[in-house]
This record gives sequence, C-alpha cells and structure tokens, in this order.
Amino acid sequence: MKSAPRLVLFDIDGTLIDAYGAGRRALEEAFSLTFDRGDVARHLDAVWFAGKTDLFIFQEVAASAGIPSWEYERRYAELESCYLERLRAGLVQHSGKRVLPGVEAILEELSGREGVALGLMTGNLEAGARLKLEPWKLNRFFPSGGFGSAALDRSEIGIVALKRYERRVGGPIAPADVLLVGDTLHDIAAARACGFRVLAVGTGWTGAEEIRSASPDRYLDDLSESAAALDALGFGTLERGSGPPAWRRS
Ligand SMILES: [Mg+2]
Repeated sequence: MKSAPRLVLFDIDGTLIDAYGAGRRALEEAFSLTFDRGDVARHLDAVWFAGKTDLFIFQEVAASAGIPSWEYERRYAELESCYLERLRAGLVQHSGKRVLPGVEAILEELSGREGVALGLMTGNLEAGARLKLEPWKLNRFFPSGGFGSAALDRSEIGIVALKRYERRVGGPIAPADVLLVGDTLHDIAAARACGFRVLAVGTGWTGAEEIRSASPDRYLDDLSESAAALDALGFGTLERGSGPPAWRRS
C-alpha cells in the first residue's frame, strides 16, 4: 500500500469479535415469537449468514418461510425489536472471550494516531452492532460507520460510512484513502465496489484459500502480530510521532 489510510473501517462478525452465533439464535427466536416460524432459519448454516446484511437475511428468511411481504412489512418493527431484545439476552447469557486475537491492541494503536479515523462497515443493524461490541467496550473506538439498517447491499453501506465520515471531517475523503478490514468475500466485493482498499483476515468462517483467491490487497490469518497487522493496514513505515501521514503531507 502506498500511503497510510485516512479512514479504517472494520467489519464486526469474524473480524472484531466472534459472537458464537448469537445473531442467528436471536433471529430464530424473533421469527418464532413474531411469526411462529422459528424453524425457518434453523436449517441455514453459518456460512450462509456470513457477510450478509441483517435486512437481507430477515427478508430472505421471511420469503423462504412463505410469509407474505405485506405481512412482513406490517410486522417488521416488531420483528426487529424482538431480534434486538433476544440478541441482548443471548450476548449476556453466552459470555466468554470473544474479541478476536490482536483486535484490542490494534484499535488502541490506531486510535492514538493523528489523522486516522476508525469506523464500522457492517451488515448488522446499528443497534445490534452496538450491542455486540458493548460487552467488550469496543464501541468507544467507533464514533460512526455504515450499518445494515441503511441498505440491503453491503457496498451501499460502505458509501454511507464514507459520507458520514466526510461530514465528520468537513471535506471529501478519497475512496482510495479508505481501508476495510473484513473476513468474507462479501467484504472484499463491497470494498472493491466502493473503491476502498481491503485487508482480509482469516478469523471468520471463510477458508484462507478461498478468501485469498478473491485477491484482497492484503491477507492476514489474524491481527495478533501487531507489526505485521500495522504493515498490512498500511501503517508499516509510519512511526507514532513521526509527523503527519503521507496523505496529509501533500
Ligand atoms: Mg464478517
């Protein structure tokens, strides 16, 4: 990578944390409580969920259950609040070490760097994203982002995140100055569609070979080696306190 990114966006599931299927269980419970159809999501495997947006998943599950779209739309607010309530309960119930290797150290390091903003780019509903990060006190690193509440499609979520940060910094941010860290082929495709660079990590459900075959700009098994991770993130040659990053010098 030529210059350090100005905005680093992180996916959540499989990249920052492993929620051990809490989202999927909450979805099953919400469909069961709202439509009496908890069975429909049960046969879907974890890979099917990975990298998709919550709105897309909800809609697909409803369609496969034969729930008419008018009924789905009419009861969507109920479904969503039920999902969030069950997600909150599930995250409390299944506590454990779920922050993925190296994540906290990298976030601490990057948040201390001048001229670098951190954000989220996730298919989770915003409230669900915040719930998933809250037990590990990770929300403090991410003032904003693009969330699954904004769109069905992940690349649209990336554009939403970019616009929000442009408003925050009061000027344009070139897509090439944005780096996405993610664990699925959907992350890579969305980053490409947005013109972002992408660092893929092997901490999710996608096999290393498969994710590498999609040609991310960089790939790491995980973020545990800080020096390697910083290098892969594009900060390898930038020492703390050595002056503004390259994109600010011109
Ligand atoms: Mg993910």
